[in-house]
Amino acid sequence: MRLILILGDQLCQSVAALRQADPATDLIVMAEVLAEGTYVPHHPQKIVLILSAMRHFAHDLRAAGWRVAYTRLDDPDNTHSIPGELLRHAAATGATEIIATTPGEWRLIRALQETPLRVTLLPDDRFLCSDAEFAAWAKDRKQLRMEFFYRDMRRKTGLMMEGDKPAGGQWNFDHDNRKAAKPDLLRPRPPRFAPDAVTQEVAALVKARFPGHFGKAEPFGWAVTRHDALLALDHFATHALPRFGDEQDAMLTDDPTLSHALISPYLNIGLLAPLEICQRVEAEWKAGRVPINAAEGFIRQIIGWREFMRGIYMLEGEGYTSRNVLGHNRPLPALYWGKPTRMNCLSHAVGQTRDMAYAHHIQRLMVTGNFALLAGVDPAEVHEWYLSVYIDAFEWVEAPNTIGMSQWADGGVVGSKPYVSSGAYIDRMSDYCKSCTYAVKEKSGAKACPFNLLYWHFLNRHRDRFAANPRMAQMYRTWDKMDETHRTTVLAAAEAFLTRLDAGDPV
Ligand code: FAD
Ligand code: SF4
Repeated sequence: MRLILILGDQLCQSVAALRQADPATDLIVMAEVLAEGTYVPHHPQKIVLILSAMRHFAHDLRAAGWRVAYTRLDDPDNTHSIPGELLRHAAATGATEIIATTPGEWRLIRALQETPLRVTLLPDDRFLCSDAEFAAWAKDRKQLRMEFFYRDMRRKTGLMMEGDKPAGGQWNFDHDNRKAAKPDLLRPRPPRFAPDAVTQEVAALVKARFPGHFGKAEPFGWAVTRHDALLALDHFATHALPRFGDEQDAMLTDDPTLSHALISPYLNIGLLAPLEICQRVEAEWKAGRVPINAAEGFIRQIIGWREFMRGIYMLEGEGYTSRNVLGHNRPLPALYWGKPTRMNCLSHAVGQTRDMAYAHHIQRLMVTGNFALLAGVDPAEVHEWYLSVYIDAFEWVEAPNTIGMSQWADGGVVGSKPYVSSGAYIDRMSDYCKSCTYAVKEKSGAKACPFNLLYWHFLNRHRDRFAANPRMAQMYRTWDKMDETHRTTVLAAAEAFLTRLDAGDPV
């Protein structure tokens, strides 16, 4: 007999380990363990999602004829670690061999490799680009750029291709995207799914077992089965996709989700597959129901960015999460854990994260990420925050986005320049500034938007590294043209702000 390990983000009937298994002889092991729920303080909704989806998946496996050894969180024999549960079941059954699909985190890969049992780790082929393919693509390239990787993925999948040419004659229609958005009461809201008895039981358990974690388990409206995840995809493709491109970068106070898909948690735990999502989106475009910029922009996120991030994580190896090329060492400010702040954009992005375990890409990148980078926060602490608070956060995707794209702590592996902006960008793309205590148009006075001060502080302190970067030269020219007294005032105001931040004073 062999033990077949299925982790909480591998809930897919065709996952590699299941394809190798024999229902007549093998035993499937699934385990809810404290170690996985607490190595960072995950948002309660994320824990509810995973445990409830695991219980539903185990039920489906049993119904399909599999034998499943399922450990519940409150099981008295629970050893509370994945290797511990494998050893316990191995001892009980006499099994000596484990088959698993490679986990999406180096921490767990190493833990499995170190168990005294014979463990076979199969490649996770739910991704469209294998680790070997990515390594071959990356080899001998001076720089890894998503855009070129993405073109190869379009060719490989055939998505939105006309022969060997991209549909519409261009690979990328981003110049049609990135518009600001206006409140619209008719904009469709993402569907919510009423918790069934299983989810309710799990939510009660999570509330009792993880009381100090940031955020609340309820109200909980996420899908926990493939059936409901498909409904969520269908709702997105039918109602929100047509405006996805236009509204992709916009932020509105009263509309936290705009035309985003909210499918990353389902995709990341295996309830949906990347290709089926893209094919659905392509079909909407082919049927003339969505514009090309929306369909192309969406498909790029999945077969481009998502696969690229996975490739980088596996290629860069274990040390990636401790990279800190810019030498930033400020502790994560308490406002990230809900301490009130006068900065309206941060207050909204963090409040929404606490309530929903969700913020869309631009909120993560240009509000919370931008502020942490400008303020010089230790990237390891930023990484731990993102890994904790988002419902879709798994290290293989969260770390390259945080350490790489958002904090530039990897020195440019993911992005050729840091994503930094002053308040002007947030003002252009959102309605946050209108009701902020700070004034986004003020550059240095007492009410000046902190992003305006910190932006120049960041560029000034990293001048040696970035001044020669052609994509940043214009920023330095603007700074250099400013009056010397003004520059001194801005830097002093930024320092004063950082001192208040460090002291825990209201900011
Ligand atoms: P949509 O905007 O509707 O996009 C559709 C899909 O494209 C997403 O579901 C996602 O699967 C994929 N996608 C889009 N952008 C990215 C990207 N940059 N990387 C990978 N996939 C992408 N995404 C995660 O899945 N897990 C994370 O832990 C995560 N952490 C992030 C941390 C930071 C600092 C940043 C800047 C981004 C992070 N992202 C992460 C990427 C992105 O923000 C989310 O995938 C997206 O917000 C999920 O919401 P959605 O389904 O509504 O996405
Ligand atoms: Fe954020 Fe500055 Fe706008 Fe306030 S003024 S919401 S701090 S960008």
